[in-house]
Amino acid sequence: MDGQYDVVVIGTGPGGEGAAMQAVKHGKTVAVIERDPLIGGSCTHRGTIPSKALRYAIFQIMETNQNPLFRERGITVDCLLPQLQKRAKSVIDQQVRLRTTFYDRNDVPIFRGQARFIDEHTVEVGKEDGGRDVLHGEHIVIATGARPYRPAEVDFDHPRVFDSDTILHCSLDVKSITVYGAGVIGCEYASMFRNLEIKVNLVNQRDRLLDFLDEEIVDALSYHLRERGVIIRHRETFDRVEPRDDGVVLHLKSGKQLKTDVLLWGAGRTGNSDGMNLEAIGIQPDSRGNIPVNEHFQTSVPHIFAVGDVIGPPALASAAYTQGRYAACQILGTEVSRPGLDIPTGIYTSPEISSLGKTERELTEASIPYEVGHSQFRSLARAQITGRTVGMLKILFHRETLEILGIHCFGATASEIIHIGQAVMALPKPYNSLLYFINTTFNYPTMAEAYRVAALNGYNRLF
Ligand SMILES: Cc1cc2nc3c(=O)[nH]c(=O)nc-3n(C[C@H](O)[C@H](O)[C@H](O)COP(=O)(O)OP(=O)(O)OC[C@H]3O[C@@H](n4cnc5c(N)ncnc54)[C@H](O)[C@@H]3O)c2cc1C
Repeated sequence: MDGQYDVVVIGTGPGGEGAAMQAVKHGKTVAVIERDPLIGGSCTHRGTIPSKALRYAIFQIMETNQNPLFRERGITVDCLLPQLQKRAKSVIDQQVRLRTTFYDRNDVPIFRGQARFIDEHTVEVGKEDGGRDVLHGEHIVIATGARPYRPAEVDFDHPRVFDSDTILHCSLDVKSITVYGAGVIGCEYASMFRNLEIKVNLVNQRDRLLDFLDEEIVDALSYHLRERGVIIRHRETFDRVEPRDDGVVLHLKSGKQLKTDVLLWGAGRTGNSDGMNLEAIGIQPDSRGNIPVNEHFQTSVPHIFAVGDVIGPPALASAAYTQGRYAACQILGTEVSRPGLDIPTGIYTSPEISSLGKTERELTEASIPYEVGHSQFRSLARAQITGRTVGMLKILFHRETLEILGIHCFGATASEIIHIGQAVMALPKPYNSLLYFINTTFNYPTMAEAYRVAALNGYNRLF
């Protein structure tokens, strides 16, 4: 046995990090296992961080090219994907350096290799050189994340066929792309590529984009994507993918064929639960590789927890971290409220989207008497100054108690300003109230002012 620990954590993404740091800071002995050469998880290397760094680099180019001060002088910037990827790489490096110090400073050893259960308390780490470590954990946290779903009939080895992991290393001069799958990742990449002036087909299997969002927000997203030139096709299912030397043809069941330089497959994710010998300890993942857990993130084996993308939705880095921390609190026996009900969505499309709480549809279906307050960004001084006038914030509130029930926002800084509303919504009754935004003085000019404008707009509708 190479080590006995109070807690063994598998995976160093946000879920694993949240669990490991909470446990070690409260006196537990902790070891982590990671099969990637660098820590940080797919969050740092293939998901959140590279995609958001790339998006920001594209945004900077767009802003420069649209700035009248530069345009008048004939200054334009033209960047290829590989040049933009350099920016993402430098952010990844900074993140890895920083996160490695967390483990070093807290004396948490990192065992490199593939984790595999021997029994309910023992995990073997298969190393690249063929050797192995064996770790014993009183408690074990599985935070192994997820990967893009790859249907067997699609040739992902072809140089023109990508998924969300491999697109980050695309070195082709792409002029057109088909994004298959219009979930959050598909919509984000469709926005990014279009902002690089690349022709984009976005193929959606459903009736609407991101149908878990408030309808007004979805309508706005569809409108703005189309206005920018993205061709959106709803209710389409792929029949087959035909990669050619000069492009990829996506054959759809409807008989349509879409030919573009490359294809980005963005439909679905699979939990990383395979290869861990879970069957030997009686843990049975579902058909998507997700590990079932109870409300405390315990698997069918009570001292083994699972958190983050490997348990399925919401599949957000933000949620994974809080779930990991919560699981560690359960191990520590610390009182802590269960995460899960108040997770905001942050969707980094163009325009950016963020929302929290109930949608209009949910409130209507539940017969809750609500009212709506809107603020259009084009009327805000700050938006006019920055030229980022596309957007809207809306507050849904109970028309009798004035309790805030939902906040839905799209446009610049949406994913930041949502937290102002979140803080108020988290207050106990009667402090969670629309009146907060009416009676509180906000800095001016700011985007946060949208709350005051929306609150007054809604309040004035009451009779
Ligand atoms: C393109 C893209 C964009 C995204 N953007 C956002 C965003 O803007 N905001 C947001 O909140 N979320 C975003 N996400 C989601 C976010 O990246 C995930 O929710 C998050 O990474 C989940 O964290 P995790 O700790 O569960 O798993 P991961 O970050 O996937 O980490 C799991 C780790 O476990 C390791 N591992 C797996 N199996 C084993 C094994 N058997 N043995 C040893 N190690 C193992 C892996 O190597 C990996 O390092 C995005 C995802 C993608 C793909």
